[in-house]
Amino acid sequence: MKQSEELTIFSGQFSLERLPKIQKNKLRAWDAADELILTYLHEQKLLSNLINPVLLVNDAFGALAIALHEIERHSWSDSLLSHQATTENLQRNNIQAENYQPVQSIDPLPATYDLVLIKIPKTLALLEYQLSQLKPHISVNTTIIAAGMSKHIHTSTLNYFEKIIGATTTSLATKKARLIYSQHNQQAAAKIGYPKTIIDEALDLQLSNHANVFSKDSLDIGARFMIEQMQQYLPEQRNCQHIIDLGCGNGVLGIIAKRLQPQAHISFIDESYMAIDSAKTNFNQNIQSDQNRSDASFLTNDCLEKWNNKADLILCNPPFHQAHSIGDQIAWKMFRQSKDQLNKGGELWIIGNRHLAYHSKLKRLFGNCQTLASNKKFVVLKAY
Ligand code: SAM
Repeated sequence: MKQSEELTIFSGQFSLERLPKIQKNKLRAWDAADELILTYLHEQKLLSNLINPVLLVNDAFGALAIALHEIERHSWSDSLLSHQATTENLQRNNIQAENYQPVQSIDPLPATYDLVLIKIPKTLALLEYQLSQLKPHISVNTTIIAAGMSKHIHTSTLNYFEKIIGATTTSLATKKARLIYSQHNQQAAAKIGYPKTIIDEALDLQLSNHANVFSKDSLDIGARFMIEQMQQYLPEQRNCQHIIDLGCGNGVLGIIAKRLQPQAHISFIDESYMAIDSAKTNFNQNIQSDQNRSDASFLTNDCLEKWNNKADLILCNPPFHQAHSIGDQIAWKMFRQSKDQLNKGGELWIIGNRHLAYHSKLKRLFGNCQTLASNKKFVVLKAY
């Protein structure tokens, strides 16, 4: 396991780690954009005489919350892992958490702010939603600074700041990172287009998707291919009592599973607050009988961490990135933990891109792995 690394900044030297903890993880828990924004705040003396808390938006592993530990701060994020990593990193550096308040993406902001620091998220829709929600909590006296790696800041990114907040400029790049300065303008429009409703007539689904939900504009083609296999093979399956939709997003796999195995309890698990909130809404509006509707649970969680409720079937369309970084480490954490959480005779069903070549590694891990279906792009595998 990689040891934590040290962030050295004007307020001290801090040891920071990422979550989830993954073997051979070579990535640091902060980036050049964190360093750039912190240095700018210090040089411009923007941290003195603050009356209200500072708002931190999308602080991935707590670098901002930890470097600014002497100031009252709210950390607004869609990621449970970000909040957990911040809490762990505060403890690691012996910093009291009393000035620190995590705020979930779906909850209203609890204050008005003089200083707002935003890390640019991967999903522009999430940025649009966050800026719109932020608008009633800022004034002309608020300093709004965003930071990101230059490759993640596009004209469309700046357009959202212009349109929703007001006049926007950028800094020059330093170590491939840039800052965005936006000035509040009362006239700028703050229309909130999320959650967004999509209808899938073929599957008889009405889905309500929050801004940061995977494939929020239409059903993911991988998920659709997985559902086709579920419709073909799941009715034949012996009566499942418990099915887990792992990394559930808007809950589409678990909802279809409930229709095909109505006696089963479905557990929906995701680390995104928006995903779990959408899954809950979608389950309630797409499962008809009241009795069936109560037979589901929804949990914001890191994979199957601290989970102790074995299942007969686990369905998984795994993630292939964490924020801006790409990789299959989280997918493999899900698969390994699934093996320990299956009842005797239980199965893990996975949809994956063909090129990821999950088959042989899954066979080694589980003992058996069978291809249920494949096309040019995807394979659906069952491991048992
Ligand atoms: N099941 C949905 C579907 O098929 O449309 C969503 C699949 S999407 C490819 C992967 C999901 O895994 C995302 O919703 C993401 O938030 C979730 N995820 C990522 N990391 C996770 C973690 N550590 N624990 C639980 N869920 C995670």
